This record gives sequence, structure tokens and C-alpha cells, in this order.
Amino acid sequence: MSYSPTLLPCLIEAISDTINQNAEAVTALDQAIGDGDHVINLQRGIQALMNERDKLSDIDWLAAWQRIGMILMSTVGGASGSLLGTLFVSMSKAGRNKTLTPQTFAEIFKAGVEAVKQRGKADVGEKTMLDVLVPVANYLTAHAEQQTVAELLANIPNVAIAGVESTRDMIATKGRASFLEARTLGHIDAGAKTSQLMICAIVDVLAG
Ligand code: ADP
Ligand code: MG
Repeated sequence: MSYSPTLLPCLIEAISDTINQNAEAVTALDQAIGDGDHVINLQRGIQALMNERDKLSDIDWLAAWQRIGMILMSTVGGASGSLLGTLFVSMSKAGRNKTLTPQTFAEIFKAGVEAVKQRGKADVGEKTMLDVLVPVANYLTAHAEQQTVAELLANIPNVAIAGVESTRDMIATKGRASFLEARTLGHIDAGAKTSQLMICAIVDVLAG
């Protein structure tokens, strides 16, 4: 697949903007049931991506995803760093010898999310970023064939937002929040929220 050389920098900038704009609100979520560092961790990684955004747009998309994954793993830290890094490195692997279409992207994203599940030994229902990533991956694989790209882009934000909301009624069983057990009820997971924000930012750019 060839994409416009400005697409990746635009995506990175949009992700940076949404995380910065929501930093206080998400940090408050993380302070309630985590250690409050999730946004700072993520911003460190996004800043590293911002610094390399022009270089990343000079390489093909598989190489870019691989590099993005490595940057996130080495800069974000925390549980989320290795998990988000794994997502991109695994997407790069899964994309080998594939032409990028909505259907192949759905397969590639699903493979990335499966790798995140394995890496964190977690699944949906445990009050993590997976409660956004898995429904979005499932939605894409179920609808990539029948729906137009415009329809997919219109629907994905709703799926991601529903995923975030679903974490409110869950008891955390993975990560730091799991130490609080039932006291996590009623709170939204910060990593689910940042995943949704990033997905919505990507969709906004792609929907143009
Ligand atoms: P840490 O918990 O190490 O301080 P962060 O604060 O950066 O790391 O990230 C916390 C987020 O990571 C959580 O809100 C949750 O969404 C996600 N997370 C934690 N553990 C897991 C896991 N095992 N699988 C998937 N996501 C996880
Ligand atoms: Mg934390």
C-alpha cells in the first residue's frame, strides 16, 4: 500500500493533541485506581514519535509500525509501554506480504490485539485497554467486508466509546488496579480511555 507521506505525521499529531487535551481528565481516572502515571508515560512515547514523525513517513508502513512499536516499548514504560509496543510490532509482522485493504487491516489489527492479550495474559472483561481494543478488532473483522470505509469510520468511535464505558462496571483483575479489587467498580480504566482517544483521533484524520 502506498499512502500520502503526510498521513503518518498527521496521525501522530492528532494522537498527541487528543492525549494532551484530555491529560488532566485521564490522569484523574488513573489516580483513582492506578498510580497516576499513565498519561505521562504515554506522552513520553508520543513525544518520541513526534520527534521521529518525518523519518517514519519515509519508510514503508510495515517498517513504520515496527519502528513505532520499538519506540513505544523503549520510551513509554509501565505496563502500557510493552503492551502498546507489542500491538504495533505484531501488526508489522502480521502485515507481511499483505496488500492493505479494510479486510487485511482488520486481520492485521486482530493479530496485534491477540499479541497484546498474550503479552499481558489478559482478555476482555478485566478492565484494561483490551476492553476497547478487542471490540474494535471484532467490529472490524465482522464488518470490513460489507461496510464501506466511510461506514466503518463512522461506527468505530461508537464501538470504542462503548468499550470504555464497559470498564466502569468491571472489577480490575490485571495491572495495578487489580490490587483495589471491588473498589475499582464505578471507575473507568485509564488505558481503555487513552486507547479510545487514540482510535478516535486516527478515525477523525482518516475520515478527513
Ligand atoms: P502501570 O500500570 O505499569 O503504571 P500505565 O499506568 O502506563 O502502567 O498503564 C496502565 C494501563 O495499562 C491500565 O489502565 C490498563 O489499561 C493497561 N494494562 C495494565 N495491565 C494490563 C494487561 N495485563 N493487559 C492489558 N492492559 C493492561
Ligand atoms: Mg500507571
